[in-house]
Amino acid sequence: MDLLINIDIVLDVCAERHPHAEASAAALQHCRKQGGRLWLYAGSVQGLETGLFQELARQKAEDPDVSRDQLLEQSRKMLQSFAAEINWLAALAAEGDVFSAPDPAGEQLIRALDRFPAESARLLTRDRRLLKTYPQQTISPDEFCRLPAADPSIPFVDLGAQQEAIRPELEANIHTVLHHGRFIMGPEVGQLEQRLEAFTRTRHCITCSSGTDALLMALMACGIGPGDAVFTSPFTFFATAEVIALLGATPVFVDIDPITFNLDPDKLESAVQGVLKSDASLYPLPQNQNSSRPQQLRAKAVIPVDLFGLPSDYDRINTIAGQHALWVIEDAAQSLGATYHGRQAGSLGHIGCTSFFPAKPLGGYGDGGAVFTDDQSLARDLQSIRVHGTGSDKYDNARIGINGRMDTLQAAVLLAKLDIFPQEIKRRQEAAERYSKLLKAGLQTPCVPPGLSSVWAQYALLARSGEHRQKLQQALQARNIPSAIYYPKPLHVQSAFASLGYQPGDMPVSEDCAERIFSVPMHPYLREEEQNTVLECLREGML
Ligand SMILES: *Cc1c(COP(=O)(O)O)cnc(C)c1O
Repeated sequence: MDLLINIDIVLDVCAERHPHAEASAAALQHCRKQGGRLWLYAGSVQGLETGLFQELARQKAEDPDVSRDQLLEQSRKMLQSFAAEINWLAALAAEGDVFSAPDPAGEQLIRALDRFPAESARLLTRDRRLLKTYPQQTISPDEFCRLPAADPSIPFVDLGAQQEAIRPELEANIHTVLHHGRFIMGPEVGQLEQRLEAFTRTRHCITCSSGTDALLMALMACGIGPGDAVFTSPFTFFATAEVIALLGATPVFVDIDPITFNLDPDKLESAVQGVLKSDASLYPLPQNQNSSRPQQLRAKAVIPVDLFGLPSDYDRINTIAGQHALWVIEDAAQSLGATYHGRQAGSLGHIGCTSFFPAKPLGGYGDGGAVFTDDQSLARDLQSIRVHGTGSDKYDNARIGINGRMDTLQAAVLLAKLDIFPQEIKRRQEAAERYSKLLKAGLQTPCVPPGLSSVWAQYALLARSGEHRQKLQQALQARNIPSAIYYPKPLHVQSAFASLGYQPGDMPVSEDCAERIFSVPMHPYLREEEQNTVLECLREGML
């Protein structure tokens, strides 16, 4: 519930107007208690200031010792402390066109409510005329206090709480872009790239339109195409392998480690040997369409996926890749902000790719991604690929590329989010520790190997079996707690990859995890009480 507070209510509370102060304050308290949000309209500052000054002057009319300046000072201080716990709703241009309405000021407030989802916000007021003219959009303090308390629900990812934390910066950044109007490759894009280079300690960051395009651009920069084998995990989001196939290359799946859920380096070595010798007895390989022989492929690259926010085993993967001259493209879509022996995720291979999809640890308000590398020549190629393969100028095309730019508006949003990202990572890690400490018995909790840190894109648990998982999820559902399954079907058995000829049983660890894994709510704003509720449900489901 969102409540926009009309001036009369502010005056009730600040100036303790009798007999309304109590009911007005109770309404604000009722809203807060239910986790609702209180708002002041930015366009009402002047009305608040003069309104409160006049009210105080009226109350003190009999007191000759109080000067006008003192009253002014007093009213400002009151407003300052009142507003400290309240959100400001910015005034937008569309709300100003109100002079044909019988009550322009009231009409303006009602229009401001349109920015909230339909009927989720009300104007809190005692003004009879407003209550009568806009019965759907307004509510009085007494009536509001009579509303039954809503059932609190725990969000899986809480983007609303984060938005509250950075609203002023977000709105300022977005408005700056609206005013300068450089929507494509505006100054915010370069600023974001510099900040991300510093964050990951890489030489070059090339932002782009999504995590999927980041991976696609990375493969293109490495010259991957038909006949090339690209090794990757089957236990990941579809995009990781999709881009390999999109370029006509062949995904070669390598099963995961059952503890970290990341690509198993021992199996990578076997799979590379299998491809080099075209010998499927060494490791399950993609088959030719009309024979049971493996395809003849050149081993070219590996895409380790830092699943759920935990970096893969790069010391071993990079060693194996070095021996066979493979490119290492890190899929850091879920792991930006994690560390591997002091190094940042995104910087752990030849090229790192990340995603700013809203639900990722550093998520924007739409699609976005970035590619990282220390290699200057790769960086130049990536910049060219991002914009249709541009050469020396806009109408010189040196290669085939894509339209892969990040929108300036998205960069402006991410700049505001990046400010609090280190703090958010810390809070995610604290939440994960609380889960793990309390969950020791009964379920396999996530393991972070020594020297590594996770950003906890997901907090994933393994149930004893598929039925056990179903029971646990039902126990959570009964208390209104969301859970999710990442990922229910490994990629080697997806229909889209049927032509590779993989069989169920080829990647036993991934297949087993897909049957038993599930994720519980995880975000930086998760409260300890909420985690306790999750744990209670899991305990019930474990009986
Ligand atoms: C989200 C994700 C992607 C794709 O990122 P988009 O920005 O959604 O295109 C790729 N790989 C992994 C592991 C992901 O989680």
